[in-house]
Amino acid sequence: MPDAFRPSSSAICADDNGEVLHTPVDLDRIRRAVREILLAVGEDPDREGLLETPDRVARMYAEVFQGLHQDPAIHLKKLFTQEYDEMVTLRDLRFESFCEHHLLPFTGVAHVAYLPKGQVVGLSKIPRVIDVLSKRPQVQERLTVEIAELLMSELDARGVAVVMEATHSCMTIRGVRKAEGVCITSAMLGAFRDRHATRAEVLALIHGGKH
Ligand SMILES: [Zn+2]
Repeated sequence: MPDAFRPSSSAICADDNGEVLHTPVDLDRIRRAVREILLAVGEDPDREGLLETPDRVARMYAEVFQGLHQDPAIHLKKLFTQEYDEMVTLRDLRFESFCEHHLLPFTGVAHVAYLPKGQVVGLSKIPRVIDVLSKRPQVQERLTVEIAELLMSELDARGVAVVMEATHSCMTIRGVRKAEGVCITSAMLGAFRDRHATRAEVLALIHGGKH
């Protein structure tokens, strides 16, 4: 594990099911901060319904930001030699992430395609990579590019395409509220960027069966 991903300190707490959770996140600090927020908005953090809220929120943040302490590349170390040079496409991979501007979730699906160069990766590994990179404070545009660039370099692929479709709760629950649309981002690398026909092929596959 690279130093950047090594927990600098560690804490232990129990999750909602009573299971012990090991996390490098400073839970006490979050508990104090959440209590401050409740006070600041005019709530009484000592009323019964809110008593355990700081602890629940602390454990939630430890979970939804656990990707900060994980290296997504470890899921791409085991590759299989395979004489297959056509496109590999995974469609409709669910993901949940948190927008770094409001700390509110954005959720949706990711579509990933790559063109192998003699080596393929186990299909279950790509959702794991998406999960690690999603469980960090993110913006959808950067998340899309990070997934694509990591796959491109680790798989030594001829091309990688990533398309993400998500709804952002920071748009739907606040502000103008009119903006309930789906945000679509894409990153096209290698052959998907350079060859129009290849890009058209992957977009047809991703959107195939949809109306
Ligand atoms: Zn936001």
